[in-house]
Amino acid sequence: MKSTNTGYELRCVANNHLNSAKETTTYCTQCDSVLRVHYNEPTELIQYPLDSLVPEPLKTKPSALKKLDRLSKTYNADLWAKLEFEHPTGCFKDRGSYIEVQKARELDADAICLASTGNMAASVAAYACYFKIPCFVFVPEKTTDAKIAQASIYDANIIRIKGDFSACEALCRKFAKSGNYYLAGDYVFREEGQKSFSYELLEQGGADADFIFVPIGCGTNFGAICKGFYELKAAGKIDSIPRMVAIQPEQSSPVVEGIFKKEKIIKKQVNTMAQSVAASDPVDFYKVLEGIENTDGLAYTVTEDEILDSLKEMAVEEGHFTEPACALPLAAFKNNQEVFEGKKCVFILTGAGLKDTGVVAKHSLSSPVLSPDLNKVINYINSGFIEMQKKSWGKSRDTFMANLKMDEDHKKLYDDYVSSINKKGKTLSNNEIEVLQSLVFNEDLDLEYPVEVLDYKLTMRKHGLVHATVKLDIEGNEVTTEAKGVGPIDAILTAIKAETDNVFPLHVKNHEVEILSPDTDSLVMVTLTLTNQDQEWVSKGASPDTLEAVIQAFTKGLAIATKTSVV
Ligand SMILES: *Cc1c(COP(=O)(O)O)cnc(C)c1O
Ligand SMILES: [Zn+2]
Repeated sequence: MKSTNTGYELRCVANNHLNSAKETTTYCTQCDSVLRVHYNEPTELIQYPLDSLVPEPLKTKPSALKKLDRLSKTYNADLWAKLEFEHPTGCFKDRGSYIEVQKARELDADAICLASTGNMAASVAAYACYFKIPCFVFVPEKTTDAKIAQASIYDANIIRIKGDFSACEALCRKFAKSGNYYLAGDYVFREEGQKSFSYELLEQGGADADFIFVPIGCGTNFGAICKGFYELKAAGKIDSIPRMVAIQPEQSSPVVEGIFKKEKIIKKQVNTMAQSVAASDPVDFYKVLEGIENTDGLAYTVTEDEILDSLKEMAVEEGHFTEPACALPLAAFKNNQEVFEGKKCVFILTGAGLKDTGVVAKHSLSSPVLSPDLNKVINYINSGFIEMQKKSWGKSRDTFMANLKMDEDHKKLYDDYVSSINKKGKTLSNNEIEVLQSLVFNEDLDLEYPVEVLDYKLTMRKHGLVHATVKLDIEGNEVTTEAKGVGPIDAILTAIKAETDNVFPLHVKNHEVEILSPDTDSLVMVTLTLTNQDQEWVSKGASPDTLEAVIQAFTKGLAIATKTSVV
């Protein structure tokens, strides 16, 4: 394809300094502020800052603009959603990556590099892979495998760094300078790609909206949508721009706070389940502020509970399962219905729910595994567990008191747990009751325990070593065993295993300790993954005492393994 633009200049936003793409594609070389592309002439067709353009290779159709019929009725407004999760990698960022990667090739970069924890990495990797340019993705050590799986399948070079996202970002910038590398991210050429949103919205008949709701992280998407509208207006394609609404989670809101102060804020601590918008240093803040001022826009924050509620409501009412960031628009709308009543509103649903199933898992009780027995299934359905599971979502969870109809045997097991916990002088919170009930429901009642722990003692040694002495009952015989470990959990498991491995050898592949409340006497849930050759078992224990929960989980795991192993 030939000419894609009427000529353009790269200028900084703060001082209008002229820059050259050969020298910088990120910040102004004179004042460090962000850059913007200015075309020589407005045109009816979208312009890109590229010498030539390859037609979008991965996307097959515009993302849908969908009327939200049920929500419109419920809330008495004209509500629409732009399904940006329909992009090839499940996120709107593909609009920007498509252009950024081509720019990198035009500048003859040897590779692309970027720092990211998720969607940006997946998206840039996909286009870099298609356009056959190597891609280096810097991710924090804690990034889960699931999050980088998409980048890996597209052959990105994954560099895991000790530390958090800012450590990755700083290092990646240095890396970019160490060779002829293009630094991708929330910068000017991404904005040029992401502005296509507004052109598409106009084609689809949505540019006459009264309000457009955008979840905000760095503000790049918001800035890009505004840029698209400015261009459409300059070209005479629209008379006015919809009022833009910027939304952030209350727990990560430097942009919204900055809008009220009219200056950029950097927040050290950001902590929200909406990970895609958790940006402590919002690079495009001034573009957001400009967009709010130019369009008489609005800015809101929403709470974590409101995010959960709206996430669920969008899935249940309209059928769209998104990641938590996409719940921000509906949550902000619901909090301010008087402002939006009767108005045409477009919510931008930025990313797919399957990118973050962890949030759902974390806020739902897990389903117990039942024996293949119809009576057990019917008892389970009648027990109330499923209703409890549904109510355990979001806000309702705090106020919900479980009232299960357990069968006799489970009831007895549950009472045993509660009485041993009460003996420790602890009363259970509602949340802890639910978790414990879920644990009991998962329990096989016909287990025989080959080993019981009768008593144990720990001694701390120099250099952090811990010495454990454990008294066991192994099939009726009392045995005492000892071991050292790097911590109490390690010491006690090593001591127990020294004896039980003679009964049935088990390797502790993984242990997770979940503390259920901020209180010092919180119930602790321990999950052990145990293996023997290629067989694997998972078992859980719960107690206010971590070690006791570990011992419970291990002896239970041993019972399950000896019962179910295939030799
Ligand atoms: C990146 C991202 C955002 C935030 O976009 P910014 O351009 O950083 O403001 C919102 N939602 C999803 C799903 C994202 O991946
Ligand atoms: Zn400048």
